[in-house]
Amino acid sequence: MIQLIRGFKDILPEEIAVWQHIEKTARSLFADFGFKEIRLPILEHSELFKRSIGEDTDIVEKEMYTFSDGKRGMITLRPEATASVVRSYIQHKMYAKDPVQKLYTIGPMFRRERPQKGRYRQFYQIDAEVFGVNSPFIDAQIIFMLVTFFNRLSITDLETHINSLGCPECRPRFQKRLLGLITSVKSELCIDCEKRSTKNPLRVLDCKVPTCKKAMEDAPSILDFLCKDCDNHFEKVKALLDKRQVSFVVDKQLVRGLDYYTRTAFEIQTSLLGAQNAVAGGGRYDGLVKTLGGPAQPAIGFAIGFDRLVEIAGINKEDFISKPDIFIAALGEKCIDTAFEWVCTLNIKGVKCEMDFSGKSLKSLMKKADKLNAKHVLIVGEDELETRTVTLRNMSTKKQVSIETDSLVESIQEVLK
Ligand code: ATP
Ligand code: MG
Repeated sequence: MIQLIRGFKDILPEEIAVWQHIEKTARSLFADFGFKEIRLPILEHSELFKRSIGEDTDIVEKEMYTFSDGKRGMITLRPEATASVVRSYIQHKMYAKDPVQKLYTIGPMFRRERPQKGRYRQFYQIDAEVFGVNSPFIDAQIIFMLVTFFNRLSITDLETHINSLGCPECRPRFQKRLLGLITSVKSELCIDCEKRSTKNPLRVLDCKVPTCKKAMEDAPSILDFLCKDCDNHFEKVKALLDKRQVSFVVDKQLVRGLDYYTRTAFEIQTSLLGAQNAVAGGGRYDGLVKTLGGPAQPAIGFAIGFDRLVEIAGINKEDFISKPDIFIAALGEKCIDTAFEWVCTLNIKGVKCEMDFSGKSLKSLMKKADKLNAKHVLIVGEDELETRTVTLRNMSTKKQVSIETDSLVESIQEVLK
């Protein structure tokens, strides 16, 4: 038997209701905050991710699914959504209509990572991006939106970590200082960090290897190196979050795994997921639109790990499983014919109604109704058709009512009101 690929998974019908509920919650909340949906292709030119995420990041170095597209060069299954949203913002000159655009997208991402709980090779993200706003108000607003989203899903075991990554003006001074520390503890760092130290020292702060974490414990804080503008920006974001009573911790180790971030960076962490503790991450990327060939427009966004969210959301799957309002137990060929007409009519009237076409016995049809968790069963036999009266049984109260077949649809709608 051919099995699915390691690190990939099926989302089965019994789980889908939770996914749909989360998605619906996101769509409704994001729309209230003025976001519009955008749907983007899953494949992009590899160059897009190399230029945006950065050549020396784990994602680009070792996690991308990249293929040759013949003469058209190399293409990649998107490992994240921001780069594609930016590409689209530039390609369609959205900035010309209005530089301020609030966009969200939901869909699969692909990274060739070691599969484990909460870490898949195809995973899903709910992604939101805002272009054209420099003000710290938007930083606070989207963090507030994110926290509100988790509240709506009754997820409480969360911690919001924030940091500032500075800008091209102030960050190099910090990098230089960090490099000093890295050089002095080099022997304690993992091989990856040794490489990172020359190309991208900030990334060493992000390493999950315990010895690296330990070695970087006393690392200087980037916050002590911020220029005046970055510092003011960060102070304002924190003050606004305080005012909205969004609790957060300032986390000087938080640097994020992608190169394009500037200023505010944030991550929502939970203790419910073990090692994979991040459920959402994001930040400002004021330079990226320009880097990718667009006008200099600031931007900020976040991505929520949909799969991890499903694992921690306090959602009772049972509450979301769709149950038929009516199951019609039709006994014999003639009754099946008539019941089929009723099912069709009820379905188009918005009644969840099902039947079985196999002509099985009443006993086995009742078993089937039980399995489907049908709220009511309508029993239709030859006698019932003859007398033009059928019996509708409420499966939880066991109460039965007689219904005239001539006004069947209306009577059922009345019962279900
Ligand atoms: P992590 O530190 O867990 O690797 P990340 O920093 O690589 O996360 P981002 O690129 O910020 O993750 O993506 C945003 C969110 O997407 C993460 O917070 C996480 O919830 C989710 N995510 C990232 N990679 C995976 C994966 N391989 N499988 C499932 N979810 C993932
Ligand atoms: Mg990662």
